[in-house]
Formats: sequence, C-alpha cells, structure tokens
Amino acid sequence: MSLGRNAGLAQEASALVVVVKPVRAADGTVSALEIREQLQSSTRDGAPLSLKAALSAITVKHIADSITNLQVTDAQGSVPLTTTDDPPVTSDDSAYRHWKATRQTNSPIAISYRFPTNPTVARRGPPLGMERAGQGVAGSGIGFFLLPENSTSETTRLSWDLSDMPTDSVGVTTAGGGQVNIAGPPSELFKLWVLAGPALAVHAPPPSGFSAYLVGTPPFDGTEMLKWASKAYSSIGSSFQYMGLPKYNLMIRALDGESLGTGTAGEGRGASLINVGKTYWPDQDRTYFRNTIFHEMTHQWVGLIKDRASWYEEGLTVYVTATLPCESHLLSPAECADDLNRTLESYYTSEGRNWSQQKITDSPFLNEGVRDVPYGRGALYFANLNSQLLTKSHGRRDLETALHPLLVARRDGSGLDQADFEAMLRRELGRVAVTEFHEEVIDGTKEIVPPSNAFGPCLMRVRVTFPSEKGGNSVNGYVWHPIGKGAPALCNIP
Ligand SMILES: [Zn+2]
Repeated sequence: MSLGRNAGLAQEASALVVVVKPVRAADGTVSALEIREQLQSSTRDGAPLSLKAALSAITVKHIADSITNLQVTDAQGSVPLTTTDDPPVTSDDSAYRHWKATRQTNSPIAISYRFPTNPTVARRGPPLGMERAGQGVAGSGIGFFLLPENSTSETTRLSWDLSDMPTDSVGVTTAGGGQVNIAGPPSELFKLWVLAGPALAVHAPPPSGFSAYLVGTPPFDGTEMLKWASKAYSSIGSSFQYMGLPKYNLMIRALDGESLGTGTAGEGRGASLINVGKTYWPDQDRTYFRNTIFHEMTHQWVGLIKDRASWYEEGLTVYVTATLPCESHLLSPAECADDLNRTLESYYTSEGRNWSQQKITDSPFLNEGVRDVPYGRGALYFANLNSQLLTKSHGRRDLETALHPLLVARRDGSGLDQADFEAMLRRELGRVAVTEFHEEVIDGTKEIVPPSNAFGPCLMRVRVTFPSEKGGNSVNGYVWHPIGKGAPALCNIP
C-alpha cells in the first residue's frame, strides 16, 4: 500500500491544492478554465482569508475583471468578500485586485471560479494572457490565477482535470506535465508558463531533461521543429557544460491568426512559451522561430547577473544564438546571420544606441526600440571580447573558458555580479578591459567595432547604411554576411 501512503503524505504536505479544468465550447475550442482550490493551511496570524489576482500584466488587460462565478466557503458556509484594487503601476510589475473575507475564516477553505479564455488578440509583449490555440490553450499563471495571499502554505499541489478535453490532451506547466508540487508560497503559480490541450509532444531520451509541447496549427512542421529544439537543447548544454541538461519544458502555442511580432518568454527558469500564429508575419519564416527557440533556451544557461542587467542576459544570449547554432551545424551561416542582423539593425537605428545602460533600464517596458539596445550592443561587446581573449591567449582562451568559473560559482551559490565580471576582465585582459567595458556597455559612449571574424569563421563584417525610420538622418553600422566563396570547408556543412 505504499502508493496510497505516499499520496496521503503528498496531500498533507500540500497546504494548497489547485485543480485546473479546461472546458470546451460547442466548436471544440477551450472557452474557459474552471479552477478549484482547497486551502488546508491556516492564514498568517489567523487573519481572515485574502485572495489576489492581477488587474493586468504588461500588455494583457482585464485579468481580474474576467473572473466570474467566484465562490469561497469554509465550515461556516459562504464567505462574504470585499474587493480593493492596487493603484496602477508604471513598472513591469502587476497591480492586483484583493478579495478580503469580511468575517473570520477557518481552514479548510474551498475556492472556485471560472476564467473565460481570451480570443486571439494581436499584441506585443510576452505571451502572458491565457489564449486559445487550436483546441488547446496556453499562457501564464499571472494571466488567470486567483490565489490566497495571506496563507502560511509553502507547497502547492497543482493538477489537471482533463475530462472535458480530447483524449490525447496534456496539462503542462513550467514545473512539468500532469500533477506537480510547487515549492514556495501560492504566488509562485503566477510565474508559471501553462499549456493544455491535445498537443504534439517530444521527450528527449535521458540524460536530457528536455520536453516540448505544441498546441494549435503553426505555419511550420511542428514535429520537425520540436525535434530540432531537442537537438539544440543538447548542443547548448554541451557547450556551456556547467549544468548538464536539466529538466526543461518548451511550450509552443499556435494562435488562430497571424503570428504576433513577439516570441518572448522571459523568466528563463526551466521553461519557455513561444508564440506563433497560423501564418507568418512578413519577416518571419522557419529560421525566425528556430532562432527564437534557441534564444529562449540559451537563457537557461546564461542565467541572470545580480540586480539583472540586459547587457549581460540578453547581450550574451544574442551572441550565443548568433554563433553556437552554426558551430553545431544546427543552422546555416546565413540563418545565424539572419537573427544577428535583425538585432543589430534595431540597435543601430535606435535613438538609445548611445544611452547608458541605466537610462535604457529606466525607459518604459514598451519602448522596445530602446529596451532592445542592449541585445545588439551586448552581442557586439561579447563578440569583441571573445576575439580579444583569443588574441591575447594565442587561441587558448575564449569567452566560454573565461566565463566558466563565474557560472560555476553562481551555480554553487556564490552569486554572480558585475564586480565578479569585472574581476574576470582584469584577470584575463588587464585594467584597460574594465575601462572599455564601462565606456562601451555601462555608459554606452564608445562604439564597439568587433573584427570581421568576431561571429565565427563563416561570417564577415560588412559596413552598411540603415535608412532612418522617422525621416531623420540615416545611420551607419555593421552587419555580418556569410563569407561564401573561400569560406572554410566547415561552413558548408548544413
Ligand atoms: Zn532574451
């Protein structure tokens, strides 16, 4: 009877139990999610229960407004509630609506509500809203969860009720498929990527922890894309080495319209959600989405630097995405250059190209032209740094070998901050490298011009003039093109 006993233990340890049930409309699409929560732990200081849901999340509006059929009950019966809304926030954070019990409550408390899924809306920003994709649905926890905010719960058991869904359906979150335990307070559920429905799925054989799921009908061959992503995952892992191939859930939602302009996923903790439509936007093709997937997965290994800094997390990720898929023969040189050049054009033509990192960080989230500067500027910086390291060491040390001890130290709990990065620069290249780093990346005042072979032996630097978008002066910059004739033989392997 060990199975029963373990299940009982899991239940005791889970102070909050959450079940998500997607329900279908007559046409087979997911029209709503029905959520049931059972709070078994007490509230902090015995205060009446308080619940919260986001009012909005970046570009997704009316989250709390959409919640219907909310019922909260304890042993005394129905729990009356009053609501208050946070004042609007200007940062990337969400403001919340709070539902507070107007009488004393006692656990266990049952909470249930219904959340209608969003029809597809073309919008920029990360894919946070719960939107229909084919016969499935996907988005993020912040897009639909209403959760206790003053419980003492430190574990949530999350599971799926797929009884209204097609037989081959799955329910997946960042934490994994099916029933999962999520450590931490209930608010951890807001950070999850979520996907449910009849999905294409690919699970890499061990030791890779890679799984991928796709709902809806994308404009590319779904199975081929998921298998490519699995190979890419292994190649990133063996390049960075320091953390193996941990559990990862790649989710793709193909919405029932044109692809949106974004495929971002943020957070970068063990999962990502890629957004695609039924048809491509003018600039998109299969390569665009391969690059997007590679970029999002690379974030797991690049990780964060203390206080977060886009020059590091995005700059390094763009550099790796522009070089590693070519070294691993996962993309052709032209395909690697494609993503890099798009990023560089956006950097060179941005009004923020010479702004300091601080000024860029302080600019509004939706000012993408400025917020994206560290992607291109950072990629140029890391490409140049890699070249400097190779030159100084006569080919014995490169960016990967120089960063490795820093990434290991972060993995082992010592953290990684800008001072650690600067100490590495001083060790490898001397004081002048720290000065350069400040001028080029932190202050943004000095232009970076990496050598022609800075993005690998298959690409070369080309000077170009970008027409200005707003009728101002055109700007000069650089892009990288495949060498073509005379390129090393390895560049011709597809
Ligand atoms: Zn990124």
